[in-house]
Amino acid sequence: MSLYTPDTRQHALLQSESTEFDLLIIGGGVTGAGIALDAASRGMQVLLLEKNDFAYGTSSRSTKLIHGGLRYLKQLDIGLVREVGRERATVHQLAPHLVRSEKMLLPLVQGGSFGKLSTSLGLWVYDQVAGVRGADKRRMLSAQEALKQEPLLDANTILGAGLYAEYRTDDARLTIELLKAAARHGAQCFNYLEVTDFLYRANRRVAGVKAFDHHSGNPIQFTAKYTVSAAGPWVDQLREKNKSRQGKTLFLSKGVHLVVAREHLPLQQAAYFDVPDGRMIFAIPRNRCTYIGTTDTPYQGNPDQVRSNEADRNYLLKAVNATFPEVHLTAEHVESSWAGLRPLIHEPGKSASEMSRKDEIFESPSGLISIAGGKLTGYRKMAERIVDMVADKFRKASNQTFDVCHTAHIPLTDQPFANAAEVQTYEHQLTEILKNWQLPAFYAPYLCGNYGRHSPDILANIPQESENPEEALILAELEYCLQQEAVLRPLDFINRRSGMLYFNMPALLRVQDPLLETFRARFNWSDSEFHSAKTAVEHAIQQAQIAATAPSEG
Ligand code: FAD
Repeated sequence: MSLYTPDTRQHALLQSESTEFDLLIIGGGVTGAGIALDAASRGMQVLLLEKNDFAYGTSSRSTKLIHGGLRYLKQLDIGLVREVGRERATVHQLAPHLVRSEKMLLPLVQGGSFGKLSTSLGLWVYDQVAGVRGADKRRMLSAQEALKQEPLLDANTILGAGLYAEYRTDDARLTIELLKAAARHGAQCFNYLEVTDFLYRANRRVAGVKAFDHHSGNPIQFTAKYTVSAAGPWVDQLREKNKSRQGKTLFLSKGVHLVVAREHLPLQQAAYFDVPDGRMIFAIPRNRCTYIGTTDTPYQGNPDQVRSNEADRNYLLKAVNATFPEVHLTAEHVESSWAGLRPLIHEPGKSASEMSRKDEIFESPSGLISIAGGKLTGYRKMAERIVDMVADKFRKASNQTFDVCHTAHIPLTDQPFANAAEVQTYEHQLTEILKNWQLPAFYAPYLCGNYGRHSPDILANIPQESENPEEALILAELEYCLQQEAVLRPLDFINRRSGMLYFNMPALLRVQDPLLETFRARFNWSDSEFHSAKTAVEHAIQQAQIAATAPSEG
């Protein structure tokens, strides 16, 4: 089975409406998607409902690292460092094209918060705890070596650097691949289905949900033996509906990222550097861009309306300009930005950046299981804990048993690569093929990272003699996503399947009209449907560009 297509969605919904599922999952972020794959691969009948598009929440707005959480070492959260550190290697193996090794440079500067000895020791401990092996082990660099590794660092203040291993991914793509893998194991996953309330049995236990289909405009109900909420920043809203928002609650912390064209911040090397307030910032090259983040500020507003502002932008630009004094980034250089919310578990008396990133499970008296907190990196382990818990309930209630977790051995694509070397060879082949159309070179790592061995399915739809090969490629990519990746609205593709909204804004501005026309034809839109979709796209572009257009400091 695969994810639904626009043509099969209604039929799949009707079937789901008349099924009592073993497990119903609310939320199509990485946590919900991970649970769906784990449960379905153990033999449970699974339904997943997402109110907006898959990965609409935090899972498309992170720093996009599968990382060992070096900062948690600073907080002495050894258990978390161990778990996420070891998970990195597993997730990399499951999708080496999508989760790629990225060496991170930690500069040591005069007046900075890291000393040479303490950093060397810290990174060594990190390697031990996180189980880091071989070439991934940390290396300490002299000032000269650090400057060679990254010439944009300040030669006047650099004392040396630590070089250690991280993994870079695309959070939304990771979520989509998990959902596709879950669907291959029989899970039914729907976007644009918002859970509005719960259904209860006579004994007041949760029996399923009432939902609203934003695609058709119809209400619908689903039943299941167990219900899990993996609604990220919205977990407390659902606990509220379930009348179980007691005890520990969520604390939302906003994190902003900026994207600039690579030529404006031409880093050779990803870097993780400290800023005067004691926090750490990443600057990460990615295809034609470099992105910078993140901030960490308390957020009390509506989780659906989180956005970056002038203060966020100025904070990040100042941090970059202080570390790389030759780049002189200004607001005009910012092509795009995004803001996301960390659903942290509230700890009285602690600041946002001090609060633990551990996940937490709540179970309400009516049986609603909620999971929040945690990391993209730890999605598999979070899923395992939840599904173990549900399997245990089945065993106790009806003696029904399910397999143990085996997601560490389920590749996240149906045509997997064996390792990073295979990915590299494949990427070279794509580079050669793309020369046929004289497309910019970054499209090879882009296609390979996003679609892996399915890239030829996309390329096959580009005419050999295309007048506008870039537009033809993007439209071919859209066609693939409409068929394979449950795309219903332009932003599903622009933002969460292709990442164009963040990492290829100039191309998006060029192809926006033909993209919208493709949707109009595909979904037979009326003029008013077309105009509202166009307005939504324009609004998203304006929001992404807000960091560039907000007035400058002073
Ligand atoms: P979400 O992705 O928010 O998913 C919850 C989903 O539930 C949403 O899509 C939402 O629409 C849906 N939903 C809500 N209410 C309903 C309803 N009523 N009905 C149906 N659906 C509903 N982690 C890392 O490992 N590496 C990083 O580099 C990293 N960087 C980060 C940077 C920032 C700025 C932030 C904010 C977080 C970062 N994280 C990182 C953490 C990581 O992104 C999150 O832990 C993870 O994405 C949370 O996923 P989730 O599925 O729990 O929540």
